[in-house]
Amino acid sequence: MSKRIRGLGLFSGGLDSMLAATVLRAQGLDVTGIFFVTPFFGPDRALESAARLQLPLLILDLTDKFFPLIYAPPHGFGRGHNPCIDCHLLMLREAAAMLEPEGFDFLFTGEVLGQRPMSQNRGSLNLIARESGVPELLLRPLSAKLLAPTRPELLGWVDRERLLALNGRSRKPQIALAAEHGIINYPAPAGGCLLTDPGYAARLKETLHHQGEVSRRDLELLKWGRHFRLPGGAKAVVGRTQRDNEALEKLLEPGDRVLKVRGYPGPLVLVPGGGLAADLEVAAGLAGAYSDARPETPVEVAVQAGGETSLIRLTTAPKARFKEWLV
Ligand code: SF4
Repeated sequence: MSKRIRGLGLFSGGLDSMLAATVLRAQGLDVTGIFFVTPFFGPDRALESAARLQLPLLILDLTDKFFPLIYAPPHGFGRGHNPCIDCHLLMLREAAAMLEPEGFDFLFTGEVLGQRPMSQNRGSLNLIARESGVPELLLRPLSAKLLAPTRPELLGWVDRERLLALNGRSRKPQIALAAEHGIINYPAPAGGCLLTDPGYAARLKETLHHQGEVSRRDLELLKWGRHFRLPGGAKAVVGRTQRDNEALEKLLEPGDRVLKVRGYPGPLVLVPGGGLAADLEVAAGLAGAYSDARPETPVEVAVQAGGETSLIRLTTAPKARFKEWLV
């Protein structure tokens, strides 16, 4: 009995990755998706889309290997802080290393020629294929007819004629193809990766500029609340919602200061790693300004450091007073 050909595909859970897997499966190939987790992109969407397609999905954490790309990706950043070319390369190299040990015959992606100006133009697709280490085994089913034939096509594992020639930014062909294959529910385009989110990218850039390096916790903190860079250099994170406050509380570490206004509903203000007395005064001012106490109200702000609590007394100021430090 001849062996069934097995493809392993990068699977973000977006429509393109769903279609790439579907198009190959329609040819009778055995297809598995792989999703690489980072602090910027969790697996929920991939899990949901894979479940809809009943597609086997592998999930691997790539965070440690991703760190160098936060600082200096060899092929640069996109519009946000997204090192898409190097990120794709990293994922493909990781997936390529799994081919033989896991019994896969080739790799595939949902990349579409011309869809993204930086990472999916012809030059980038060729560069990514070349530098992946397995250019001959990397199939892009959605644009395959516009690209050089790969080994799966040349050996007849995949019928090139039944692959596609999608090109450009329009989503219409993908939407039509989805309908053709009975894919009704799929996520909206874009979204998913925080490194392309302008707010997150700006906060990350500011943090890198200020402290040079970031920890996993820094990356998590950047997801929650309003961020202020205080005059003495400390950071204050002000919860915007109950959810923010709870998330920030879960991220507390020894040495942090937590500030809350007494007697009024108000946010949790976190000063990671503590700060100079002058910065804590400003952070206390933020706790007052973002509380329900009206401006010009005398309040007490509790400052917790580990098990110890001290008090800062102040008169609340309007939020606008702190605008210059908002990141
Ligand atoms: S958008 Fe994010 S996850 Fe996707 S390739 Fe770019 S950096 Fe990687």
